Amino acid sequence: MKRLVILGGGESGVGTALLGIKKGYNVFVSDKGKIKEEYKKVLKHFEIDWEEEQHTESKILNADLVMKSPGIPDKVALVQKLAAKNIPVISEIEFASKYTDATIIGITGSNGKTTTTMMVNHILKEEGLHVGMAGNIGDSYAKMVSENNFDYYVLEISSFQLDGIVDFKPHIAIITNITPDHLDRYNYEFDNYITSKFRIAENQTEDDYLIYDADDEVLVSWLEKHPVKSKLIPFSLTKQFKEGVCLKNNKIHITTQNNTIEMATDNLALEGKHNLKNTMAASAASKLVNIRKATIRASIENFQGAAHRLESVLKIAHVHYVNDSKATNVNATYYALESMKSATVWIVGGVDKGNDYKSLMPLVREKVKAIICLGVDNSKIIEEFGNVVDLLVETKSMNEAVKMAYKIGQRGDTVLLSPACASFDLFENYEDRGNQFKAAVKSL
Ligand code: ADP
Repeated sequence: MKRLVILGGGESGVGTALLGIKKGYNVFVSDKGKIKEEYKKVLKHFEIDWEEEQHTESKILNADLVMKSPGIPDKVALVQKLAAKNIPVISEIEFASKYTDATIIGITGSNGKTTTTMMVNHILKEEGLHVGMAGNIGDSYAKMVSENNFDYYVLEISSFQLDGIVDFKPHIAIITNITPDHLDRYNYEFDNYITSKFRIAENQTEDDYLIYDADDEVLVSWLEKHPVKSKLIPFSLTKQFKEGVCLKNNKIHITTQNNTIEMATDNLALEGKHNLKNTMAASAASKLVNIRKATIRASIENFQGAAHRLESVLKIAHVHYVNDSKATNVNATYYALESMKSATVWIVGGVDKGNDYKSLMPLVREKVKAIICLGVDNSKIIEEFGNVVDLLVETKSMNEAVKMAYKIGQRGDTVLLSPACASFDLFENYEDRGNQFKAAVKSL
């Protein structure tokens, strides 16, 4: 019996354990931290051997195969020891993919992964296909493969998951965009991070597709220097292609396999240029799996966006409150501000990951009437924007920030929570921050 050791007892770890026992492995789960109660229950129920708050090397270095959860960096001593012993260390998507023949649509990128993944899943579901959505969303991919027999998987895939692949390939890959993020895990080399994202196409063949943002200079110049085997399906708001997705007369034109479909953009469910791009990418992937045009069109109009991403909360006294708590970097906030159609009271701040706010300056000048800082240390925001807007105030809690926004907002304005920062100074995570915002707005 082969020994499968799983490092990390979270969603992907426990999912892999379930699939592992089903496939006849002797499974051991080891977590350096505490394992959540709900996961312990599952491990106990299936009589899977596990440990927490330690890594017992004698029970790990005898593995035939190791699945490392995406949160654990390669430079950890234990992972180095495994490498020295030539024990293969893979990620969950690598492991799970061996056990399914489903058509895989894999989505990566710096921003827009969740939105695009949910949209593709929605379109395929509306067509009536038997489809599972996994990755960083909901149940783990490995658990789904162990419990279901889907014909299609739509997977949101992080660069950390891609770092642990050997043979994995999606039939259709999407790279939404690449902007600097997580560089601490990549020796502060942007090229390492790009290389990692492009591994989504590394095992693809001429029969597979790579859909990508051709307005993204990083993506375009990387592809010029590092060609891939897959068929390329670029999408762009300004460029035209023989094969690809473009905008003509306010319509999305998708040309693949010598055939074009057109869709109006007037009634799209999601606003903003970034969401137009996500919609183009999701529609192209759907066309490639032969979804009917009528289904794609209806689905991109009735799609319910993910919470905390430019999520409309309420209108109070003709002021619109929008929750974009998931904007944890400057690029995401750029698109949020860009999509604002009225004077904006902007709630911003949190834990700054080395932000450069310069790119936001023109948008702030044009659209923002007041800034409400919500963070423990707001000095950088005050320094950057103090002289740019008429009003800048500091607050220390979500309730205080929302009450302040209510005082400042006038008929027709938008109050936008788009922090451009991580949340863990005042909140548990971005969901907690967004939920507190929604609760505070609802109790105004
Ligand atoms: P991810 O899963 O990659 O973090 P999400 O769909 O959760 O992406 O969106 C994260 C943030 O980025 C949100 O604030 C959202 O409004 C913004 N965003 C979504 N799509 C894009 C895009 N294509 N380009 C830039 N920002 C985007």
